[in-house]
Amino acid sequence: MGGSYMEYRLGNPQNTIDIIKKHQFVFQKKFGQNFLIDTRVLDKIISAAQITGEDMVLEIGPGIGTMTQYLAESARCVAAVEIDENLIPILEETLRGYENIHIINGDILKIDMNQLVGRYNGGRPVKVVANLPYYITTPIIMGLLESGIPVDNITVMVQKEVASRMQAGPGSKDYGALSLAVQYYAKPYLVANVPPNCFLPRPKVGSAVIRLTRYSQPPVKVQDPKLMFQIIRASFNQRRKTLQNGLNNSPELSFSKGQIAGAIERLGLPAAVRGEALDLGQFARLADIFLDK
Ligand code: SAM
Repeated sequence: MGGSYMEYRLGNPQNTIDIIKKHQFVFQKKFGQNFLIDTRVLDKIISAAQITGEDMVLEIGPGIGTMTQYLAESARCVAAVEIDENLIPILEETLRGYENIHIINGDILKIDMNQLVGRYNGGRPVKVVANLPYYITTPIIMGLLESGIPVDNITVMVQKEVASRMQAGPGSKDYGALSLAVQYYAKPYLVANVPPNCFLPRPKVGSAVIRLTRYSQPPVKVQDPKLMFQIIRASFNQRRKTLQNGLNNSPELSFSKGQIAGAIERLGLPAAVRGEALDLGQFARLADIFLDK
């Protein structure tokens, strides 16, 4: 194909196969490369992301540009960060004709996202959309939430199990440190479950699209969020142990047994309570109680 690829939908599996063959592209497992080949899933992602013509979208891992085409048609501009240099010439071809796409060859965990947002969006909040490489889902999400980059919402394809963890509350087997971290910063919403046959090659696990809408103010007040997250990590490090033991054994915390027992009592909880029984508000109060001492 010579000219523009704007009418050439890569969500059509045959088109994806043709491009891969033409460029003799070899999938790299280490980069978590599973390309979307389902136009209905693409439509769902785009509509869930609530993109307007004013928006800058940051796409993590554009692959061969399947979703990038859709994003460029909805947004004012798209910055797409791709680690695999072998995909850059393919992207330059499949995204030819679009004038609002910036392709960046780099590692999303290493590039300066604040600088990117400053450069292409004047520092205003961006929308993040991605079919994530699963081997680094958690560092990517936590990086986006914790680093203070201005973000409106994050709409991502993740492993189904990870989507469950992001939404879980006390009493669920999926509840843990990731649930609490995500829910402190954002409101999660499950957009769709996506089976393996929507990708090329097929992943071994089921997937789900989840949207995280960032809060302007966290839903709970806590004086020292860093201390709260240290307590949360300590509570879930040893799941089957009591909260007391978890906090006592944490290398990150240095409270005495007496202080820990006293704090749990002040919270109005039984001495043998497990960390997994506490909700976000209770962890926030516990952190404030420790800070009081
Ligand atoms: N967006 C494409 C799609 O939906 O078909 C590809 C998704 S594929 C699951 C993940 C993509 O992320 C791959 O293109 C992979 O090369 C890229 N990737 C992996 N690690 C990355 C990293 N650290 N930084 C940027 N891109 C990365």
